[in-house]
Formats: sequence, structure tokens, C-alpha cells
Amino acid sequence: MELLEREIRENGQVLEGGVLKVDNFLNHQINPKLMKALGDEFAQLFKDAGVNKILTVETSGIAPAVFAGLELDVPVVFGRKNKSLTLQDNMYTTSVYSYTKQISNEISISKDYLTASDRVLIIDDFLANGQAVAGLLSICKSAGADVVGIGIVIEKSFQKGRRWVEETGIRIESLARVASLDNNQVVFVGEEGTESNE
Ligand code: 5GP
Repeated sequence: MELLEREIRENGQVLEGGVLKVDNFLNHQINPKLMKALGDEFAQLFKDAGVNKILTVETSGIAPAVFAGLELDVPVVFGRKNKSLTLQDNMYTTSVYSYTKQISNEISISKDYLTASDRVLIIDDFLANGQAVAGLLSICKSAGADVVGIGIVIEKSFQKGRRWVEETGIRIESLARVASLDNNQVVFVGEEGTESNE
């Protein structure tokens, strides 16, 4: 998505360890117009998938997920990172290792908001090694919910998450695909001289 690629080029910062910092528009300060454009794009891509619920994880998946939910007219549920002790019995919980924070988080979703009748679109801000997506998939499996698609804002195609998701057979759409962050340069998949891992 050209608009997103431009934003990443103008405002993204490459950090050590293959991390792309996008605090300027996604991970800290939020650009609402851009989030709406991302949500609309996800809605357009998945409009025929029969989605009745969007699932994301707090915090940064919420903004694009809400705009996609608005356009598809479906509710948005976000996995919570701090489990309330009083609600334990009624929660699906899984442990997710965070690539950027290098710690494991418990992700919980109430059984009230995810059931076997759901057709779920998973949306997240980044796909790196696929831990966050794997956690959400395992919660959907526990709930008996069908996952009909995965929408990612920024995919780091040089890490193993993309391939892992493809092997599940679930449709994945990433709005920006970063082929490399070498030498502090953002190179997108499809740009001259790059190779995707497809
Ligand atoms: P994964 O679970 O796919 O390994 O990593 C995805 C999660 O880690 C995302 O939800 C995001 O919070 C974080 N993440 C992974 N790589 C990056 C990155 O390069 N930049 C930022 N800002 N977050 C990242």
C-alpha cells in the first residue's frame, strides 16, 4: 500500500536487531487518517470472507482493527495482556513471546466475546516471527472459532512469520512488506534488487 510505504519511509526509524520504529504514526502517536485508510483497505480485502468479528492484541493493533470493524460493521475484540485474576475461569489464555520486548506476555480473551459461531479476521500491527498471530490462532482454536483471514499492517518478510502463516493455509494480507532493514535502509518487497521469502 503506497500511502503506508511512504509513511514508513518518511517517519520510520531502523533500530538495532532488525526493529522498525514507527512511534510517529502507529505505536505511540497515532495518525487517525492513516489508520482509517488501513482499516478501509483491510475491509476491502476481506469484504467477501464472511467476517463477523475482528480479533487483535492490545495496544497497537486496536486502531487499524477498529477502522476495519467500522467499515465491515463487525465488533472488534482485543486480547488483553493483563489478566484480571477474578475473571480467570471465563478466559482463554495463552503465552506470547514478544519480539521487541523479549519477554513473554499472557494474552487473554473472555469466552463471552469469542465463540464457535465466530468467523474471525485477525489484525495486528507487525508480523515478525509470528508469535502474536500464533497466540491468537491458538485462542481461536480453543474457542472453536474459524479464522478466515489475517491482516498485518507491517510485515517483516525477512523473518519467519510470513512463511509460518502461509503453511497454516490461512489467507494473509500485509499492507506493507519489508524485505530488508539492512544498513538502516527500509527496502520493500518488490523493489528492485530485492527478493521476498515467498
Ligand atoms: P511476532 O509475534 O510476529 O514475532 O512479532 C509481532 C509483534 O512484535 C507485534 O505485535 C509488534 O508489537 C512487535 N514487533 C515485532 N517486530 C517489530 C518491529 O520491527 N517494530 C515494532 N514497532 N514492533 C515490532
